[in-house]
Amino acid sequence: MKVTIISPNLYTYGSMLIGGVLKDKGYDVTLTKNLSADTDVVLLSLYSTLHLLNKNIKDFVSGSNSTVYVGGPVSAYPDIVLAELDVDAVIIGEGEESTIKLLDHGISENISGIAFRNGDKIIMTEPKPASIERPTPLIPGDIHKQDIRGANAYIETHRGCIGACGFCQVPEFFGKKIRSRRIEDIIHEIKLFKQYGVKRIAISGGTSSLFQYSGDRSMNESAFIELLAQIAEVMGSKNVSVPDIRVDYVNEEILQAIRDYTMGWVYYGIESGSNKILKDMRKGINTQTNIHAIELAREYGVKVGGSFIVGYPSETIEDYELTKDFIEDNLFDDVFISIAEPIPNTDLAERVLRTDDDDNPTFIKHTGEYSILNLTESEARCFDLSLHAEMCKFMPGIITDQVYQTYLGEARQQGSDIRAVTRLLKNYKQIID
Ligand code: SF4
Repeated sequence: MKVTIISPNLYTYGSMLIGGVLKDKGYDVTLTKNLSADTDVVLLSLYSTLHLLNKNIKDFVSGSNSTVYVGGPVSAYPDIVLAELDVDAVIIGEGEESTIKLLDHGISENISGIAFRNGDKIIMTEPKPASIERPTPLIPGDIHKQDIRGANAYIETHRGCIGACGFCQVPEFFGKKIRSRRIEDIIHEIKLFKQYGVKRIAISGGTSSLFQYSGDRSMNESAFIELLAQIAEVMGSKNVSVPDIRVDYVNEEILQAIRDYTMGWVYYGIESGSNKILKDMRKGINTQTNIHAIELAREYGVKVGGSFIVGYPSETIEDYELTKDFIEDNLFDDVFISIAEPIPNTDLAERVLRTDDDDNPTFIKHTGEYSILNLTESEARCFDLSLHAEMCKFMPGIITDQVYQTYLGEARQQGSDIRAVTRLLKNYKQIID
């Protein structure tokens, strides 16, 4: 049986992993970023809710003669996927094992973690976590050309997160228990990526320093440091990045290892300068924890990138001003700003569904300083904070016309995408409730 895995626009780790699992089982499998396939089965690997609204994807699915299954993060609300895309089944959650069973036996209620139509009904079976041991991924020949925030590829070191951040899907998708891979398997995989021309690799998997965490932080810290040292030996330390890390899961030893074995940056999810919003986000940290982690990184010569979210449903203008002050007071090396996105199966999605558009900053018309630009309140905060952060960075940037237009365009695009996702979820509110 011939199978094509389509991962639109970029090769996600999940799509390469499924490819490797199928190849290991003897399937003739191809991985592509393009919406075209002439095989018995197509596996669509969709990582963004926007994919469900994408006309090209819809047209591809409705015009396809193949059996089409959909998996990936969009599977959080399988009935919405089945309503929006004319596919044969949805693979829910971690799909390695259910995909094999689907391909081996066809659609059946006896397969865990799938959803499909049966007449007027939708049948849904309970997903189960997959084994953390796996064959090597299917690595495409042009992987070295991919650039995701500076890395050619992200690799998975563990699954799950002990956090409960209200905007994040990771604990719901992978669970709260950390399941870690063996260091030797990860290194074997990284060597393979290197053979395919990958120059820079990033570690994904929620919060990277939770690798091998099982309740005792002193045990897992040494494992994480050993992991970084071994990856650096293969790739060279300047070609390793550790994108996401919780501020309450760093200490002196971890920061030293990040300085010595990676490109020397930490990326903290700071999110907000308002303790009220951090509480609403269920971050489990406050502004003091954030400041401590930033200062500690500086002390150990590690550069600090901060991620912020604006437009949380409960964020007032006073909360937003606190975030501006926080950025001004803490001199980041880089800043990433996102408008709050209601990712399926998160507390934020539920909050957004309960919030009238008239009370949601993502829909409220901005009437302040940027009213001439015709923005929503979330877009105005995203744009304003981007300009502010640029000027307040450790090495301040200059706001040229091009920089201004880039930030304005990004804020508008994010606002438009998130309104589209919100409308989609609201259309299916009854199903989600
Ligand atoms: S944002 Fe990070 S720390 Fe929070 S739940 Fe998600 S992966 Fe965990």
